[in-house]
Amino acid sequence: MTIFIAIYITLLGLVLGSFFNVVALRVPAGESLLHPPSQCPKCSTRLGVRDLFPVFSYLLSGGKCRYCGVKVSLLYPLGEAATGLLFLWIYLKLGLSMKGFEGLLLVSLSVIITVSDLKYMLIPNKVLLFFLPLFLVLVPFMAEDPLWVHALGALCGGGILLLLALFGGMGMGDVKLFALLGWVIGWPNVILAFLVACALGAAVGVGLQLSGIIHKKQPVPFGPFLVFGTLLAFLYGPDIIGFYLTFIG
Ligand SMILES: [Zn+2]
Repeated sequence: MTIFIAIYITLLGLVLGSFFNVVALRVPAGESLLHPPSQCPKCSTRLGVRDLFPVFSYLLSGGKCRYCGVKVSLLYPLGEAATGLLFLWIYLKLGLSMKGFEGLLLVSLSVIITVSDLKYMLIPNKVLLFFLPLFLVLVPFMAEDPLWVHALGALCGGGILLLLALFGGMGMGDVKLFALLGWVIGWPNVILAFLVACALGAAVGVGLQLSGIIHKKQPVPFGPFLVFGTLLAFLYGPDIIGFYLTFIG
């Protein structure tokens, strides 16, 4: 039974991932989610059923538009595959539970933010405002730990990034995003998420500069690292922090 649910959840992730791409690419541009229907950005041919299978359509067409041959952005299949795999990961770790549902919600937010931030260097307010009430209600409802843990998480997450924003180098979108993520994962997970995001962001940033993919002063979007650190802390935070404390204690 588990294997069928696992396959179902992965397929659900692939299909939703395709929708998250649309949200991430259209909302910051001020476009409607429904109109026009998906079309090639170059030749404007309306995409048919054959073109809309997550990941597979991209692979079968060799990453090109079937009608005009223009290259399709790698963000599409990557966003879809990432959502499918992360959905599967959440299910395997948390099963069919409220915490698992919260995890799927967190993955959904993470994928949209990542695609938006990579494409536009922007974390859309509308997306944060959509997820805010869901998490505001869900976290107290789950009552896993006292509410102050989550309030402190939001305060630290938003506070640390606000300080960084005041000294430049961090956008207000990141501040709002990390306040929301801090509310979800709580204290002290939020600190772990921040450290992971900084370490990974620095490593990737330096790597991109050394390999000449970006130039020296070019800013790197921080949102993708924040959501990655948050997902890691959400799933393994207590394990990692406990492991660390046994060393210094
Ligand atoms: Zn085309």
